[in-house]
Amino acid sequence: MNSNKTNLADNPDVILIGAGIMSATLGTLLKELEPGIKIEVYERLDVAAAESSDAWNNAGTGHSAFCELNYTPERPDGTIDISKAVKIAESFEISKQFWSYLIEKNQVKLPDFFINSIPHISFVWGDKNVEFLKKRYDALTECHLFKGMQYSENPQQLKEWMPLVMEDRDPNEKVAATRMEIGTDVNFGALTRRMLERLGRDGEVKQYFGHEVRNIKKTSNGYWRIKVKDLATGDKRKVYTKFLFIGAGGGSLPLLLKSDIPEGDGYGGFPVSGQWLRCVNPDIIERHKAKVYGKASVGSPPMSVPHLDSRFINGKKELLFGPYAGFSTKFLKKGSFLDLALSIRPDNLRPMISAGLKNIPLTQYLINQVRQEPEDRLAALREYYPDAKEEDWKLEVAGQRVQVIKKGPEGGGVLEFGTEMVSASDGSLAALLGASPGASTAVSIMLELIKRCFPEQVASPEWQAKLKQMIPSYNQSLAQNAELLYEVRDWTSATLGLPRIGTNYKQELGKV
Ligand SMILES: Cc1cc2nc3c(=O)[nH]c(=O)nc-3n(C[C@H](O)[C@H](O)[C@H](O)COP(=O)(O)OP(=O)(O)OC[C@H]3O[C@@H](n4cnc5c(N)ncnc54)[C@H](O)[C@@H]3O)c2cc1C
Repeated sequence: MNSNKTNLADNPDVILIGAGIMSATLGTLLKELEPGIKIEVYERLDVAAAESSDAWNNAGTGHSAFCELNYTPERPDGTIDISKAVKIAESFEISKQFWSYLIEKNQVKLPDFFINSIPHISFVWGDKNVEFLKKRYDALTECHLFKGMQYSENPQQLKEWMPLVMEDRDPNEKVAATRMEIGTDVNFGALTRRMLERLGRDGEVKQYFGHEVRNIKKTSNGYWRIKVKDLATGDKRKVYTKFLFIGAGGGSLPLLLKSDIPEGDGYGGFPVSGQWLRCVNPDIIERHKAKVYGKASVGSPPMSVPHLDSRFINGKKELLFGPYAGFSTKFLKKGSFLDLALSIRPDNLRPMISAGLKNIPLTQYLINQVRQEPEDRLAALREYYPDAKEEDWKLEVAGQRVQVIKKGPEGGGVLEFGTEMVSASDGSLAALLGASPGASTAVSIMLELIKRCFPEQVASPEWQAKLKQMIPSYNQSLAQNAELLYEVRDWTSATLGLPRIGTNYKQELGKV
């Protein structure tokens, strides 16, 4: 059966493709800004947040650059560049403000359902790495976003912070760690489902699960037409909209290419799969209380940074180690092995080949990862937990990432490890590509999208007032304004049930 909404007035103002954290965040922001807006969501799976946004498919780290060493690269002159760390830390503060607003409005219940406090630790060994960590600590703590960070080379202190990591470690090895008390673990899947439930209440935002978007086309009257297939019945239909968001995670690239917008020319994708070791021994799970991030081995990609991670999933404490990277031609965990081949087009072929040739060490690294035997995985784990035993750990498949390949200078290709928003020049379509730092920065990314695609509305006094109500630091730099940071941190910590380590801040500012 074919059913099409031929009367344009029956069609939604906004269509969101995909029911992950990005669509849920955008839908929630738009509904708050314009309560009368008509939104529809189309999702190919039967439930929301079952791909990258699900808690078991990502690491759940509230990325604030407290512990992720790849966000603070060392410059050739040996100094540390903290600009990316500052940007990510600010973005996470923006996410926390929006979530606090939703909780205060009673839209998302029970903060501990999705966000939990857990110290973020960076741990390194060897003289060179210890020197790097100390320089990183000195550089970061110059900025108030990172005040409260602790540094230690004392094995006794480190044992208190992370007993599993320090027990039975070679006493002659030089080690160091930084610790940030106010780190978080976030269940992005639970948060996504809560936001979508709220949007769907009273039929306000229609959500079509088991519906796959197959094609996208711009019509002569300026609307976007999507062709959707109901995967249960086989029914197909067309829906029209003035604004289309492609928030399909790994599935965004093929849809962007189908839209044929010139801004999407030359984009390609390089899929990277992942696995975790999940601890199944409750005594061990209980003894670890931190997210411990290490340094990626030389030549390996940033997403392969190993970490020993306390998690809180569906009310239960868990412990994961990984991720171990791998190669798969699928763009989604529940996707098709043909995804990569079908994404190759005349305009992205050259960038893809060129990126492949320039990144042979990455390909080799991924092949080696795929070839790993259980003993190899255990050896990697023992670098972080020397006493680890194979029987206490089970292998799990993580979410799929599609790293962005884009045209570089002279038509060559560049492989990117971040998130990339691509939008049509008239603001009628936007797509989100890439993975990292991803979910933690969803609110900032979607605010940027709204600014690009709804510029007139954003400039209006009504939207400005609402944006400031939802995000009190909106349009202000938290990195430049310590007082504002402490104020919003105090508020979000109280609302989200996180530790308030704000008392010294006020003294520093001469307020007490
Ligand atoms: C291994 C791993 C670890 C990570 N760790 C972290 C972390 O610690 N912290 C962090 O902040 N971020 C992390 N991320 C990144 C984060 O998970 C993602 O950035 C985020 O979940 C992406 O959300 P999304 O809504 O764009 O995509 P998704 O959650 O993947 O949702 C996309 C949805 O679109 C649907 N879809 C696809 N194609 C179609 C179609 N044609 N029609 C209809 N529906 C479609 C999919 O089924 C899916 O439900 C990690 C990611 C991975 C893979």
